[in-house]
Amino acid sequence: MVTVGVLAVQGDVREHANALLASGAQPVPVRRPSELAALDGLVIPGGESTVIDKLMRAFELREPVRAAIDAGLPVYGSCAGMILLADEVLDGTSDQQTLGGMAITVRRNAFGRQVDSFETDLTMPALTEPERPVRAVFIRAPWVERVGDEVEVLATVPAGPAAGRIVAVHQDNLLATSFHPEVTGDARVHEYFVRLVRESSRPA
Ligand code: GLN
Repeated sequence: MVTVGVLAVQGDVREHANALLASGAQPVPVRRPSELAALDGLVIPGGESTVIDKLMRAFELREPVRAAIDAGLPVYGSCAGMILLADEVLDGTSDQQTLGGMAITVRRNAFGRQVDSFETDLTMPALTEPERPVRAVFIRAPWVERVGDEVEVLATVPAGPAAGRIVAVHQDNLLATSFHPEVTGDARVHEYFVRLVRESSRPA
C-alpha cells in the first residue's frame, strides 16, 4: 500500500486522510521534515495559504518539501494547497511565498467577496466514471489564470459568472484543485492522485 502524507500544520487534515483511506492509500499526518522520507506522496490541504506558508517556514518544512517536489514526489494541493503549488500568485499578501512547482498563475480569493463559497457540478473526463459529475465545493477559492504548456487542464467551471475558469490542473506528479473534494464523500479525485502516486513509486 502506498503511504501518503497530509501536511498537518493547518487546514482540513482529517477529511483528506479519510478520502485517502477510501482510495486505498495509507494516510499519515506530516509536521516534521523527518517524516517526509517515508512518503510516496503528499497532500497539502485547504486552509489559509498565507498561514500554511508561515507555519511551513516555522517548522522548517518549506525547503525539504520544495526539494521533495523537485525530486518528483507526487503532491496534491487543494484550494490553499493549489496556491502553494503555483509558481505565481496574484492577490497574495506582500510577503506571501509559494513552494511552486506547477507552471500556473493562480488568483487568490478569485471568485469574489459576495460569493465566498458556492457549489457546482463539474465534468472531469480524467476521472473514473467520467459521465458522473463531480460536486465541487469552493470556499474562498483561487482559480487558475495562466497555465504553461506542460499543464493539463482537468476541469473548468461550466456556467455562471466564472464560466470557463480553470479549477483543476495536472502537471507530471503534481495535481491541484481550487475546490475541496475531501468534503463530499466522492473519492475519485483522491483516487486519481493515488494512481499518480502508485505510478511514480513503482520500481523502474
Ligand atoms: N482563501 C484561502 C487562501 O488564500 C484558501 C481557502 C481554502 O483553502 N479553502 O489560502
